Amino acid sequence: MERLHDSFLKHLAQTSATPLALDIVSAQGCWLTTRDGRCYLDLVAGLAVNNVGHRHPRVVQAIREQSERYLHVIPYGEFIQEPQVRFAERLAGLLPDGLDCVYFVNSGTEAIEAALKLAKRATGRTRLIGCRKSYHGSTHGSLSLTDNEAKKYRNRPLLPDVDHIRFNDPAELSRIDHRAAAVVVEPVQGDAGIRVPDVAWIRSLRQRCDEVGALLVFDEVQTGFGRTGKRFAFEHFGVAPDILVLGKALGGGLPMGAFISSQERMALLKSDPGLGHITTFGGHPLPCATGLAALEVLEDEGLTSHSAAMGQRFKERLVHPRIREVRGLGLMLAVDLGDAELVQQVVRDCLDRGVLGFWFLSCPDAFRIAPPLTITAEEVDLACDVILTSLTAISGKQE
Ligand code: PLP
Repeated sequence: MERLHDSFLKHLAQTSATPLALDIVSAQGCWLTTRDGRCYLDLVAGLAVNNVGHRHPRVVQAIREQSERYLHVIPYGEFIQEPQVRFAERLAGLLPDGLDCVYFVNSGTEAIEAALKLAKRATGRTRLIGCRKSYHGSTHGSLSLTDNEAKKYRNRPLLPDVDHIRFNDPAELSRIDHRAAAVVVEPVQGDAGIRVPDVAWIRSLRQRCDEVGALLVFDEVQTGFGRTGKRFAFEHFGVAPDILVLGKALGGGLPMGAFISSQERMALLKSDPGLGHITTFGGHPLPCATGLAALEVLEDEGLTSHSAAMGQRFKERLVHPRIREVRGLGLMLAVDLGDAELVQQVVRDCLDRGVLGFWFLSCPDAFRIAPPLTITAEEVDLACDVILTSLTAISGKQE
C-alpha cells in the first residue's frame, strides 16, 4: 500500500510535516486496526469525539435507520426533521433553564462563530473577551478568541476589539467591563494542557458578567458529554452560561456543532436581519440521529460516572519518577513530564508499543489522555503499563 501512502501525502492537503499516517482499516470500541494488521489502544478518541467508543452498535443502527428515510433535504431551519427536533428536545431537557433553544451547526468553530454573532446582537456591544492559552477553533472569529500566537500571526488582521484575560486569575475579572458583549471560556481548558480552574473563580466570573451585562459563553466543545466526569463541565462549578457551545462528541462520531441559549435570545436571529446565522448542512438528520443515539448510550451505560472512575484509575496508576503530574477531570487528562523532548519520545514509543496518545497545541511538556469513555479498567491498566514501560525504557537510554 505504498501507493496509498504516497497519494495521501500528494493529494491530501497536509498541515503537519510529520503526520502519524496510520492507515486505518477499522475501529471498534477503544481499538483502531491498521492495514498491516496492528491494533492500537486509542487514548485520543478522535480528539474527544468518540465518547461512546468507535462504532457503538446503537450509533451504527441510527445511521442505518436514518439513511433509509432521508439524508439532506433543505438548509437549516425550514422543514421539520424529526431527528433534529428530538435531539434538541433531549438536550434542552438535560440543561438548566435558559438553555432550552438549540441551533445545530457543523463544527465547534462554527458554533463559536455563531455564538459570537448572537452575543453581539443580544448586547449591542462589540468587545469580545477570551482567556490566555485558550483554543476555540481555526476560523477567523474563533482564532481571534484563541490565545496561541503561533497559530495567529500569519492570519492578521483578525477580529478587532478582542482582549484576553488570564484564566483562573481573580484579579483579571475587573477587566471585563460594560463594553463587553461576551466572555468566552473553556470551563476546563483543553489545549492549554488541561487546566481546571477554581470553583470560586468560575463563580466570580459569572457574577462579574452579570454585573456588567456581558454574556458568559462556555465552550464545552471538548469538555461535553461526560468527558470530565460530569455530563457537562459547568456542572462541576454550579454555574451555567448564557450561551453553551458544543461540538466534537455531540454527533456521536459524525461532524456536528451547536450553540444553545434561551428562546428569547435565539429569537433575535429571526429578524433585522432575518437568517441571522445560515448553514446549508447544519442540523443534518444523520448526525442528529447519531448524536441522539450517543446521548442515550451515555445515559443508559452510565458512562459519565465511569469516566470519573477511570480517570481516577489513570491518576493512581501513572506514578513514575519522570511524571511530574497527571492533571484533569474524568477522562480529560494531561500527563505532565515537564520536558517537551521526552513527551515527543514517549508518544512515539507508546505508538510503537500499540498505544495511541497525543500532544497538546499549547502545552509541549505534557501529553493527552482522552480515550473513549467506554474504556475498561483492564484497558486503563494496559495503557498505564505501556506508558510506564516506555518512560522507564527511554529514561534508561538517556542515562
Ligand atoms: N473549542 C474547543 C475547546 C476545542 O477543543 C476545539 C477543537 O479542538 C474547538 C473549539 C474547535 O472545534 P472544531 O475543530 O470542530 O472546529
